[in-house]
Amino acid sequence: MADTTFTKKSLALATPEAVMAGPSAADVGTTFVRKPKMAGSRSRKRDIPEGLWCKCPKCSAMVFDKELDENLKVCPQCQYHFPIRARERIHSLVETCTFEEMDADLTSVDVLHFTGVASYASKLEDYQKSTGQKDAVLTGIGTIGTHRTALGVMDFSFLGGSMGSVVGEKITRLIEAATAKGLPLIIVSTSGGARMYEGMFSLMQMAKTSAALAYHARRHLAYLSVLTHPTTAGVMASYACLGDLIIAEPGAMIGFAGPRVIKDTTQAELPPGFQTAEFLLDHGLIDAIVPRKELKQRLAGYLDFLTGAPKRAAAAG
Ligand SMILES: [Zn+2]
Repeated sequence: MADTTFTKKSLALATPEAVMAGPSAADVGTTFVRKPKMAGSRSRKRDIPEGLWCKCPKCSAMVFDKELDENLKVCPQCQYHFPIRARERIHSLVETCTFEEMDADLTSVDVLHFTGVASYASKLEDYQKSTGQKDAVLTGIGTIGTHRTALGVMDFSFLGGSMGSVVGEKITRLIEAATAKGLPLIIVSTSGGARMYEGMFSLMQMAKTSAALAYHARRHLAYLSVLTHPTTAGVMASYACLGDLIIAEPGAMIGFAGPRVIKDTTQAELPPGFQTAEFLLDHGLIDAIVPRKELKQRLAGYLDFLTGAPKRAAAAG
């Protein structure tokens, strides 16, 4: 009994002693050293906002977001062209404050009451919220170089840049406005093709836009088509491949059906680089590959050439 009481007492004494001794000895040493370290690392983490850096999918370099924005979303190390939003693209192409948007409030209607994993109506609402756009294309009239130009720019981040009734209608109205005003036309495409949520209505946009371009061509007005990664299917099979000049961004995937479908249908090995802008330039489908940073200047030059502006300037001089 005595032993146990003694032990208990000694334990009771030992505990506070250990606690007291601890701080002045090894235990406290570790607490003091460790705690500030952890606190320091936590605050450092809090200081770094998310999305400050991103990794280049081609060369794996870590690129500072600000640097990427200043470089028009092109990797400074390997020149990989990241996707760019439609508004940023317009900003990079037109002279400051010259762009007047058309049909900004045109929105798609769920004609077929389409429901897959989610309903088309709810998808439209989600994408409108996440992108801040009503649909997958922005159209309007702006100045490029010295030219008033009708400009349409597609946005892949809205339902894969798919062409539904609204995309088709906005593009058609843009073409018709260019024809009526006698303006050159530029469409920057990026699309996964026709929007199947709208069935036949989306396929009809191919005919509608192509017909409008035929009227534009009859007036001998210029149309430049710019293909960016990726431009495929219904869009490539209609207005994207009908340009007087067809220009592409480096490395862009351009085609109608996907490579696997073609391989299965033809039962043949596809050549290396199949459906890239570089391959299509070699085979004559496109006229030029223009890096994003040179695009504005080159488009202005092509418009000078196609509209005869330098000749007129020379004649006037
Ligand atoms: Zn890179």
